[in-house]
Amino acid sequence: MSERDIALVTGASKGIGAAVAVELAGDGFDIWLNYRSDDEGAAQVASCVREAGGQCTLLKYDVADGQATANALEPLLAENTPYALINNAGFARDTIMAWMKEEEWKNVLSVHLDGFFFTTKLVVASMLKKRKGRIVNMVSTSGESGNPGQVNYSAAKGGLIGATKALAKEIAKRNILVNAVSPGFIETDMTADLPIDKIKPLIPMGRTGTVQEVAGVVSFLCSPRASYITGQIISVNGGLYT
Ligand code: NAP
Repeated sequence: MSERDIALVTGASKGIGAAVAVELAGDGFDIWLNYRSDDEGAAQVASCVREAGGQCTLLKYDVADGQATANALEPLLAENTPYALINNAGFARDTIMAWMKEEEWKNVLSVHLDGFFFTTKLVVASMLKKRKGRIVNMVSTSGESGNPGQVNYSAAKGGLIGATKALAKEIAKRNILVNAVSPGFIETDMTADLPIDKIKPLIPMGRTGTVQEVAGVVSFLCSPRASYITGQIISVNGGLYT
C-alpha cells in the first residue's frame, strides 16, 4: 500500500463498519464512509477517522439503490480509485419462514446482494484499470451454517459467499484480491435484542466478539501481509462454527 490510499467502507456509521473505518484510517487509509440514515453516528465516526490520521468523505446512500449508488460514487471515481472496498452494510429482519413477508425476504436479499453488486461493479471497473485492490465482504456464520429464523439473512450471506469466491477467481490475475470475513456473535446494535446470556454457552470461547476483533482481520486482509490470500472466508466466531 502506498501512502494515502483510499478505503471505501459501506455501512460505517456504527458497529463493525465504524470500527473498520477507524482501524483502516490508523493503517494509513483515507476513508470514503458510506451509511444510510444515522447522520450523527457517521459524523462521530468521521471525527474518529480524522483523529486516527485519515481524511473522511461521508457518502450517504442506500446501497440497495443502484441510481443513488452511482450518483454518490461516479463523481469520486472519476478522480480517484479506492485501493480497498469493504462491503459491510447490512441488516436483518428475523422471523420464521412461515411468517416471513415477501418484503422481509426481498429487502434483506437486496441490501446484501444488490448492495454488493451496485457498489462493487462501479469500484471494480476502476480497480481493474489500476491492476490492484482488495475487496472484503462482510458475511456471517449464519450464511455458512444456516440459522433458524434467518432464512432470508442466511440466503443473503450464503449468496455473498458464492459471489466472493466467483469474483476472486475472475479478477485474481489483475492483482485484485477478494475475501470475506464471517463474524459470529459480535456486540453491536444488530445483536442488541438477542438473549446474549443464552447464546454465550453455545460459543466455545464462552463470550461474544468485539467490533475491534473483526476490524483487525479486515485490516490484515487489506495489508501487504495478505498478498497471497484470495477467495477465502475467514471466520471470526470464537469457535461457534468450524
Ligand atoms: P449495525 O451496528 O446495525 O450497523 C449497520 C450499518 O449498516 C449501519 O451503519 C447502517 O447505516 C448500515 N446500513 C444498513 N443498511 C444500509 C443500506 N441499505 N445502505 C447503506 N448502509 C446501510 O450492524 P453490525 O452488527 O455492525 O453489522 C455490520 C455487518 O456485519 C452487516 O453486514 C452484518 O450482517 C454483519 N454481521 C454482523 C454480526 C453481528 O453479530 N453484529 C454477525 C455477522 C455478520 P445507518 O445506521 O446509518 O442506517
